[in-house]
Amino acid sequence: MSILPTLFLSHGSPMLALQDSPARRFLLELGKALPRPKAIAVASAHWETHGGPAVSLAPAPETIHDFGGFPPALSALRYPAHGDPAMAEHVARLLQDAGYPVRRSPQRGLDHGAWVPLMLMYPRADIPVFQLSILRGAAAAEHERLGRALAALRAEGVLVVGSGSLTHNLYEFRGQDLEAPVPGWVGEFAAWMKEMLQQGRHDALRDYRRLAPHAVRNHPTEEHLMPLFVALGAAGDGAAARQLHASYEYGILAMDVYAFS
Ligand code: ZN
Repeated sequence: MSILPTLFLSHGSPMLALQDSPARRFLLELGKALPRPKAIAVASAHWETHGGPAVSLAPAPETIHDFGGFPPALSALRYPAHGDPAMAEHVARLLQDAGYPVRRSPQRGLDHGAWVPLMLMYPRADIPVFQLSILRGAAAAEHERLGRALAALRAEGVLVVGSGSLTHNLYEFRGQDLEAPVPGWVGEFAAWMKEMLQQGRHDALRDYRRLAPHAVRNHPTEEHLMPLFVALGAAGDGAAARQLHASYEYGILAMDVYAFS
């Protein structure tokens, strides 16, 4: 079996779970294209903690419907994958060994950054899943370092997923259609990220907020991009990025998926 990559997934709107789109069709095929993981560790934009990372040890994580204003059919969805307390504890120790104070959460379930894409990738929900948090207010380099602490997991058959969004300015959502035209400030940022990732310019990426075109407009807050840096770090030294998918939704959400290996 070939070794797993790490992944950055753009999870878009929660409607990704229900509404046909190129990104949804891509994710429906992605699980089958990867070596089958033993467990999945998701660092989601929707779980931020202060002072250090948290890891969920929930044996049967509940499906968290952490959104409002969507059709009831979305709130009825459940993703019944088991957790993996033993592997989550292993991850907590890896993080402690790297110097982090780690909080173990006995209960925390799966937020939509985790269950929406996983429901498409692994609809049978037969691979155990657990989440770890990202660090509120910490910069890209710090998230890369957090990921680096997890670099052993790939070889252990654990799929490390960073789930966020390559662009994410919801203030600029004004009821556009799913297939709305893409404004220049969104497309230029996505193109810069692709170029830097493909060229392995990790120094420039860490400094994206200063160097990338329209960085602050695309990420008024940084939490949806930080999972990319966790995935990048978790791929290990010398990892190369491959763009697996690119599309846009509502004009403002770049739905890029990257693999790091
Ligand atoms: Zn999100």
